[in-house]
Amino acid sequence: MELATSSQIPFIISILFSLAAGACAGSFINATAMRTAADKKWWGGERSSCDKCGKVLQAPDLVPIFSFIFLRGRCRYCGEPISRRHFAVEVISAAGTAALFARWGLSPALAFSLAVFWFSLFNSLTDIEIGYIYDVWAVALGALGMLMRIPAGWPAMIDGALGGLIGFGFIAMVILVSRGGMGWGDAMLMLGIGGAVGWRYSALSLYVGFMVGGVIVLPLLAMKKLKRKDAIPLGPFLAAGSVIVLFFGNVLVRRLSYFMSARPGWPWG
Ligand SMILES: [Zn+2]
Repeated sequence: MELATSSQIPFIISILFSLAAGACAGSFINATAMRTAADKKWWGGERSSCDKCGKVLQAPDLVPIFSFIFLRGRCRYCGEPISRRHFAVEVISAAGTAALFARWGLSPALAFSLAVFWFSLFNSLTDIEIGYIYDVWAVALGALGMLMRIPAGWPAMIDGALGGLIGFGFIAMVILVSRGGMGWGDAMLMLGIGGAVGWRYSALSLYVGFMVGGVIVLPLLAMKKLKRKDAIPLGPFLAAGSVIVLFFGNVLVRRLSYFMSARPGWPWG
């Protein structure tokens, strides 16, 4: 049996490449999110070091995913366990990046998808670690999205502006009505995501994000594993909603064509 026909080889190579690129992006995003949350500079004198013994890590310790596996999750110098967080973020980023490549191929939609995915990963990590979404990193995604919309002309740019408005406006409404639960960081997160994805995907991201949040949070509340006053970071649910929409938005838009136009809009098709 042949492993792959020759016509599949370019696709397989590009999937392997996107796995590797995604793992490296994940490693970078994780490191910068940790430094941002700890109020440290991204660049400068500081090299990556073991969280436990502080030894500066060398190249073989820093290969995303593989170092963790070959070192069996332990620091080469002190033998203490390495936080699984590094490995988990690298795997999530590699898998998501390759899956988005498989979904969209080399296209403008892929560029938008990767921007949304990588920025959302960063914002989710700071939200989970310290309960804070940095406005500047939320808004940066929206600004990048608007820049990427310029070549497609006014309709695409208006779509992005509406997307940001819907995302921000809806969360702002929830904040004002519920007085708690959601914060302005969540509103800024959706401003950025909406500006990148446009109004239809922005509305869908809110819908799917709240569904995901409800499916996970409500049972935990019911089982009393969570209390109502516990600070639950909601950014990751909104981010997850937007990433799910990157994959299935077009199907949902067609399903909902009664009140949304049947086409999802540029760059989604
Ligand atoms: Zn160590």
